[in-house]
Amino acid sequence: MALRLYDTKTQDLRDFTPLAPGEAGMYVCGPTVQSSPHIGHLRSALVYDILRRWLTYRGLRVTMVRNVTDIDDKVLVNAADDEHWWALAYRMELEFSDGYRALGILPPTYEPRATANIQQMHELIERLIEAGHAYVASDESGDVYFDVRSWEPYGELTRQDLDNMEDAADADPRGKRDPRDFALWKGHKPGEPESASWASPWGPGRPGWHIECSAMARRYLGETFDIHGGGLDLRFPHHENELAQSTAAGDGFARFWVHNGLVSIDGQKMSKSLGNSVYASELLASASPLVVRYYLGQAHYRSTIDYHDGSLAEAEAALERITGFLERASRRLSGTRFSAAAEVTIPDEFAEAMDDDLGVPQALAVLHDTVRAGNAAIDADDLLAAASALGAVTAMTDVLGINPNAAPWNGTDDVAQEATLARLIDALVDQRQSARAERDFARADRIRDLLTASGITIEDTPTGAHWSIDG
Ligand SMILES: [Zn+2]
Repeated sequence: MALRLYDTKTQDLRDFTPLAPGEAGMYVCGPTVQSSPHIGHLRSALVYDILRRWLTYRGLRVTMVRNVTDIDDKVLVNAADDEHWWALAYRMELEFSDGYRALGILPPTYEPRATANIQQMHELIERLIEAGHAYVASDESGDVYFDVRSWEPYGELTRQDLDNMEDAADADPRGKRDPRDFALWKGHKPGEPESASWASPWGPGRPGWHIECSAMARRYLGETFDIHGGGLDLRFPHHENELAQSTAAGDGFARFWVHNGLVSIDGQKMSKSLGNSVYASELLASASPLVVRYYLGQAHYRSTIDYHDGSLAEAEAALERITGFLERASRRLSGTRFSAAAEVTIPDEFAEAMDDDLGVPQALAVLHDTVRAGNAAIDADDLLAAASALGAVTAMTDVLGINPNAAPWNGTDDVAQEATLARLIDALVDQRQSARAERDFARADRIRDLLTASGITIEDTPTGAHWSIDG
């Protein structure tokens, strides 16, 4: 296999040779289920869906693990008086699953929750303490920290000198030997819910964020595995710390580090403080899910995508050229001896582009060239060439997950799609209510307009907002 991938750790393109022949193990950092999914979450999950589909096409049996971080400072902070943190986490987990499903992102092989892997985290922390790379805080807090000064390679992923690194802002620094030491275990604090506290050899408490991923990757993929993926924003401190913990404990950990670029909004970084977040539900109300998938998947995975007015319209036009050809070719070929003869093969140039660090933009150029050639063949009544283009376009759209005639886009999964749609509308209606409560009426109106444009009517009643689908 000639696939090359950019490894963020070695900072170069390397041939991807799996650890076990014919198999590939991939760990992708999943969401911290603290609030609704936004466009960046969808893009990240889609990148690894496309990578996984390509590895599978190349004949590998892929084991893909994407976790759910269901216990974390942010989940506890966002839980309200009338909703337990675990109820919030599960509600958000469902929204994430709906968003993924809407975009045709295949479910991971395993989707472990952090709270179901506490024992594995304890074992890893114990190994680190025994190896002299972790210690119990001196301030009776019950915290346990990773000792960054004890691990010489610390900083290797992001090529930082320890002395220039930021302090770890994850726990009270008074119990730390060095302000950069990060929390593996956080002792229970007064005021935190009892339900967010687990017994441990160091007293009741809960895991630090980074140790969760190290422990889950090891449990489901083994000491060493092929690919670790995640958004570029996770490189430091999250991935740097995952790498340090796992290797200091003696595990080989990830052989390739793959990071996807982020999504900006009108040229600006997306952030809560700017209030410019684009949520999954808004995005999916603005265009069909297939258009959203095409839009988020078309750029190279390492580049930044800028979302702006008109982004989805461009994607829709590109997709229409593909669907237009598929329909036209099927119509013209139906009833001829070419109707079933089209060989469904991927052109070599497409495969070469995908093998070259997942070059989707170049691969899509091949796809659109084939569409043009196919249309020209129909114009010239060259049905053999038209049939071969139809086969190639079908194969290429299949592997990218954008074949409009295949599941989930061809309506073969109606019940699941209806449930997904209902939850997405619910999420959007909730967001409109919050915007109104925060007196952000411009945003509330924007959401209502989106819904109206999608044929959904909201009615404000004394018992809350109700929605219905027109027609
Ligand atoms: Zn992670």
